[in-house]
This record gives sequence, C-alpha cells and structure tokens, in this order.
Amino acid sequence: MPDTAPNSWEARAESSSFYGFTDLPSIKARGTVVLTHGEGPYVIDTEGRRYLDSNSGLWNMVAGFDHAGLAAAAKAQYDRFPGYHAFFGRMSDQTVMLSEKLIEVSPYDRGRVFYTNSGSEANDTLVKMLWFLARAEDQPQRRKILTRKNAYHGVTAVSASMTGKPYNELFGLPLPDFIHLTCPHYWREGQPGETEAQFTARMAAELEEVIAREGAETIAGFFAEPVMGAGGVIPPSAGYFQAIQPILKKHGIPLISDEVICGFGRTGAVWGCETYDFVPDAIISSKALTAGYFPMGAVILGPELADRLHAASEAVEEFPHGFTASGHPVGCAIALKAIDVILNEGLLDNVRRLTPRFEEGMTRLAENPNIGEFRGKGLMGALEAVADKPTRTPFPSNLSVSERIANTCTDHGLICRPLGQSIVLCPPFILTEPQMDEMFEKLEAALTEVFAGLKAGA
Ligand SMILES: *Cc1c(COP(=O)(O)O)cnc(C)c1O
Repeated sequence: MPDTAPNSWEARAESSSFYGFTDLPSIKARGTVVLTHGEGPYVIDTEGRRYLDSNSGLWNMVAGFDHAGLAAAAKAQYDRFPGYHAFFGRMSDQTVMLSEKLIEVSPYDRGRVFYTNSGSEANDTLVKMLWFLARAEDQPQRRKILTRKNAYHGVTAVSASMTGKPYNELFGLPLPDFIHLTCPHYWREGQPGETEAQFTARMAAELEEVIAREGAETIAGFFAEPVMGAGGVIPPSAGYFQAIQPILKKHGIPLISDEVICGFGRTGAVWGCETYDFVPDAIISSKALTAGYFPMGAVILGPELADRLHAASEAVEEFPHGFTASGHPVGCAIALKAIDVILNEGLLDNVRRLTPRFEEGMTRLAENPNIGEFRGKGLMGALEAVADKPTRTPFPSNLSVSERIANTCTDHGLICRPLGQSIVLCPPFILTEPQMDEMFEKLEAALTEVFAGLKAGA
C-alpha cells in the first residue's frame, strides 16, 4: 500500500512528477518505488528494500549499478574537460576516439558517426539524413519510411511515427509517409498450416507488394530492430533478413538496423545484425553504448551512405543538424570505457556463458499451462501468458495479467516488465548464476501465485 503521508517519498513523487509510460491506477494503488542506489544487478529503494532488476533498468545498465571503472572514467573526464559540443569544426578528443572505436567494432571497414542524446534522436536524425540525401540527389519524392507493427523506435514525433504501437494514435500519429508492415512473429502471425519458411516468404512478398504499391522511388528507408525489444522481445522468423534484404537492395532502399537494444552484446554478439547474419547500410546505437551511465545515441553510417551524405552536405556547405550535447566528451569517455568493459572485461563472454542457463530457465517456466510461448535471443527473453495454451487465446486485457505478475514480482524483490501479455527479462550482463537462479525462483513463485488467483476468480 502506498505511504500517503505528505512528506513520504511516494506522496512527494506523486504530487510533483509527471509519469511517462506508467500505469497511473497502479501508482494510486501501490505507490511509486523511489530508488536511491544500486549494487551489481540490484537496486535499493528509500526503505532499504532490494530488488533484482531483471530488466537492466531499461535494457541499458548492462554493467550493473555500481561499476567503479565507469564511474572513474566519468569522474576523470569531468576533471579534464567537462563538456563541449561538436559544431563549427570543433569536437573533443574523446569524440574522435569514440568514432574510431565505433567504426572499428562495426561491420564496416570505414564509415562516419553522428551523435545524439538518445535512441529516439538517433532514429530521427537518420530519417532527416535520408530526406536530406533524397533532395540533394534530386529525388525529393523519396520520403516514405518503412517499419513494422510492434516495432519500437522511440518517442519523438518522427521516431514515434516509426514505432508500430497503437498508443501513438493518442497523439494523432504517425505522421504521413510512415508505413508499418506485418510483425514477423511466426507464433502469433503465422496462419494455420503455414510453415515458418512459408511465413518468411509471405513477409517478403508483402514487402514487394508495398514497394510496388507505393513506388520504390518514394521510399527513403527501411528500419528494423534485429530482435524487436519493446514490442515484446520478438526475434524475426527464420531467414527473415536474408529474404528482405535483396528486395530492398534491388529497389535502392537502405536497410537500417536499429541496434539500440541489440547492440553491444545483448544477443550474444556485438551486434544483432551479426547474430542474424546481415550487414545493414547504417546502425543506430544507444542504451548499452554507455552501459546506461550517460544519455547518448549514435548513428553509425556505413561507407556508402557516409560518402553520399558527405557529398550532399558539401554541396550545400553543411549538414544543418546537431544537438548541443552531441558527442559530449564525458559521454564519449564513458562509452569508450563501456565498450572496453563489455568487449574486453568479460561481459560479452558472460552473456554467451549464461545464455544456455537463461534459455533452460525460460523453457522450464514456459511449461506452465498458462504460458504460451518463450521467445528470445541471448540475454533477452519474454514469456507470453495465455488463457488457453492449445488455441493461444490471450487473457481478457481487463485482467491485466502481465501487470499482476510484474507487481507480484516487485513484492518479492524482483523487477521485471509487463509488455502486452508478456513478461520481459533482460538482465545485466554481469549477472552471476546464483542471481539468475534467484530471478527464476522469484518469477516462478509469482506466476504460480497469479495464475492460481485467476483460477480462483480473484
Ligand atoms: C529504447 C529504444 C529506442 C529509443 O531510445 P531512447 O533513448 O529511449 O530515445 C529506439 N529504438 C529501440 C530499438 C529502443 O529499444
């Protein structure tokens, strides 16, 4: 029950803060969890309660909540040069070093990097780049952006238009020229009797049809997350990227990999496109890029787009776009350290080592008669609740089943995320085996409690 005393943290939070992506009736009933610090994968609230955060904050705190090396890198850079921009031909040395590092670890042998403060802004920036390029190359009609239903690309007006979620209608979005294709989720979208290969072929045929209907010359780009994250952890159907990339290539439409979640290890490789064996024309990175220790996003352009955009910019003398804090030296210093920690201090290795145990735990929980599917890749996974398993029938949405499960987990000291009818787990890369076992024990207890309650009509 929330502490409603006027000087309590809960009451102060509720009277002063405007909540984003928060179920407000839940806040009324349960209060706000106000956190003060963290230890490894745990966060601790104002009452001293500990929660294992199986969502790494928002997918991003992959090195945990008290990494000394990351804090030291931030402190050292604050002492040396605490802030600068990347306009007018100036930028910090850290910015240069990070761009070189990002290209080195990218699938490209050369390219160019542009910085933002978030993943949304990085997607927004790349759309503007593609629109700028189209006009510079005398194809001003090339403005349409293709994404998929359930995709999450952010919340600015442009990146929300790319996001394929129904709540954007509440804002009168998407803007014109944003087209959402079918979500490549075989379990949910596959037709009776359709094999996974046939499903993938149908997704590719749909893309061909949309391109023919709209006109290839009107399409500026296709954006896709390798594994959809906030859509509910949805890996693509088998062979999906191999089926769609040649179609996009044939029509001169760039393929952009939104690696805001997948990038830097989540799927068991540095990039999700590596896991799914394709090379996109550009990469969007954020979240784990700084291990969540600084707000930062990056657009990593492969060689061809980098050359074309550079030429287009030279023709009008500049690319008139940038954020005050683009390429912030402290953010860049932290990102350099985070990349080093992930790639060279064993975090990516730990993702690979833990993945079989993670899949085993999830598979076991999916044996529950009210769990329809476990899906995931690397250290990201979702369990989808169903009222009836054989027919894959969801629970009525007014039962808020996934919220009940997540709230019950919170009561037991585990943070996990309800997404649609699914529960999402994406633990920090520093997790130990006993901590993973603790995560599954707590989740299993919550599932048992909630499903029993539903059966009893609670
Ligand atoms: C989180 C996310 C974004 C948006 O990033 P913000 O930093 O929240 O703006 C974009 N794309 C994907 C795939 C994401 O998961």
